Amino acid sequence: MSKLQPARGTRDIYGDDARHMRAVTDAFQRVAASYGFEELATPIFEFTEVYKRPLGETSDIVSKEMYSFESSAREAGDKEPEELTLRPEFTAGVCRSFISNGMQQNLPCRFMSWGPAFRRERPQKGRYRQFHQINAELLGQANPEADVDIIAMAWRLLNELGLGDKVVLHLNSLGDQESRAQYRDDLVTYFSEHKDELSEDSIRRLESNPLRILDSKDEGDRAIVANAPLMSASMNDESKAFFETVQAGLSAIGVPFKHDERLVRGMDYYCHTAFEFITTELGAQGTVLAGGRYDGLIEQLGGPATPGIGWAGGIERLAMLSMQGTQPDRPVMLMPMGEAATIKAFELAEDMRSAGATVISDRTGNLKKRMNRANKADARYAVILGENELENSVVTVKNLDEGSQTEVPFSALAAAVTSGGGEA
Ligand code: ATP
Ligand code: MG
Repeated sequence: MSKLQPARGTRDIYGDDARHMRAVTDAFQRVAASYGFEELATPIFEFTEVYKRPLGETSDIVSKEMYSFESSAREAGDKEPEELTLRPEFTAGVCRSFISNGMQQNLPCRFMSWGPAFRRERPQKGRYRQFHQINAELLGQANPEADVDIIAMAWRLLNELGLGDKVVLHLNSLGDQESRAQYRDDLVTYFSEHKDELSEDSIRRLESNPLRILDSKDEGDRAIVANAPLMSASMNDESKAFFETVQAGLSAIGVPFKHDERLVRGMDYYCHTAFEFITTELGAQGTVLAGGRYDGLIEQLGGPATPGIGWAGGIERLAMLSMQGTQPDRPVMLMPMGEAATIKAFELAEDMRSAGATVISDRTGNLKKRMNRANKADARYAVILGENELENSVVTVKNLDEGSQTEVPFSALAAAVTSGGGEA
């Protein structure tokens, strides 16, 4: 540790950043609740298997981005050391929790979660090693209407954040199992013809997971990908009908979207709908919210076959883009002058807080200094309690917007600083 800096890719969140991020989480909780979503808070670390299995060894996350560690705490009573990983994303943990708690009795389940996630990536603007997500999962509905619902929810949130015209919804379908198998074959045929031009990584993906090649960030790969066959050509009729219902539903509620045939998700359990809300205003970190359908995931984790669809939004990116912050409440600055006033001031402060006011007690310095601090804090009122006031059981209330001042009896103070709070 050279300087006292936060670790690379992590940051302290305060001031405007904190307010903007809070605004995102608050809006998310409100919107998700209005769609019937309930909170599910899973642990921040899980057994490594929980992420390894569903995300797959070849995924970026599992192959290089996870913060995994062995906990060997015999002193604490562990028999065997445990392989643990800090949450890199929410879906796997939510599905693990769904299975652990036997929630298949209560389908469909709608879960909202939020909090930090951890990935060892190269830090950049909008890309951190500890970042924060809002996350929604809808389990137990195989019908395309569910896809519309959960995208509608994302769209409503984005609009509440004032982002409706800053993002574009990219939408694609990966089809059902059969269509995907067909597409996989078509891709293997095509990429095998261009094998010598592919990157090492993609040559490996050709065997393990050819769809991932479509997602490659390698320049050379991208040129070959540009002419690769399209998913839509491999789709069977059922998959087409499913996708059409999704599109019709989105059109009906006025969600604009762009069919983006290059949008894929690598793992086998992904199917049908995949989507990303993308902005051009954040450079390379343009995806602010992304999701899709994962009908095979819960079964693959060892649970009962249960369809699922969900999305995750990056709170930092959403906050950067929206720059909407909840305004902090304008405080009342309470200024007891002299020792005799101190005790009474405690009581008055609590009275005002009970009435709903935000109260800061400022006990140091002369009146001028305190008034300066009150202005800096954007206080609405300064409440002065000096010896004279104390004798007469009143306080002097300065309205800092109007520059006026009045004497208010102790018993009327709480009402005076909370009534008609809206006027400037
Ligand atoms: P990217 O292509 O930008 O790496 P991703 O496909 O890895 O994104 P997801 O796993 O789909 O991202 O996560 C959902 C959202 O979480 C992203 O759209 C983004 O807004 C946010 N996100 C992902 N990784 C980071 C990160 N390292 N720092 C900040 N936000 C992130
Ligand atoms: Mg990533």
